[in-house]
Amino acid sequence: MTKKDKFGPPFNPRGKPLEANEMEKIPHIRAKAPAKYAWAAGTAMSRFLEELKNGKIIGRLCAQCDRVLVPPRMFCERCFKPTTEWVYLPGTAVVETFSISYIDQNANRIKEPILVGTVAFDGAPPDCGIMHYFGEMKPEELKIGMPVEPVWKPQNERVGSILDIKYFRPRKK
Ligand SMILES: [Zn+2]
Repeated sequence: MTKKDKFGPPFNPRGKPLEANEMEKIPHIRAKAPAKYAWAAGTAMSRFLEELKNGKIIGRLCAQCDRVLVPPRMFCERCFKPTTEWVYLPGTAVVETFSISYIDQNANRIKEPILVGTVAFDGAPPDCGIMHYFGEMKPEELKIGMPVEPVWKPQNERVGSILDIKYFRPRKK
């Protein structure tokens, strides 16, 4: 057994497309699954998403730990005490991590990279970040600790999604 036989061809995450004549050899059906579902976001996340429609970032205060949880939670995962108050944050943030991706969501190589990472909101601790896109900057300008601000979709296009924020851009003073 050669090494190639043992381990097979190199792993290709995108797989191999079927040839036209191969489809007929494979047992298959074409059908639409009647999948209906509802998903409750919960008390804290529902309010967070509703506030995004208003262009606001809201968190919950853990008085025990003196930290504002964003996205909000009804209890603190550190001390397990219920959070006590809603707190609006200014929305400005700082870059905590980032990635310059030359692969898109479908694993295609792309020339203009997508800039993604986590941001920590001002007024919340750095371990309460959210993941999002960055924009209006060159890849080489993106730095950890960089002050950024959200760029919101127009109000009539917001639906209560984290993508109501289009991306975060360098903060303008
Ligand atoms: Zn706590």
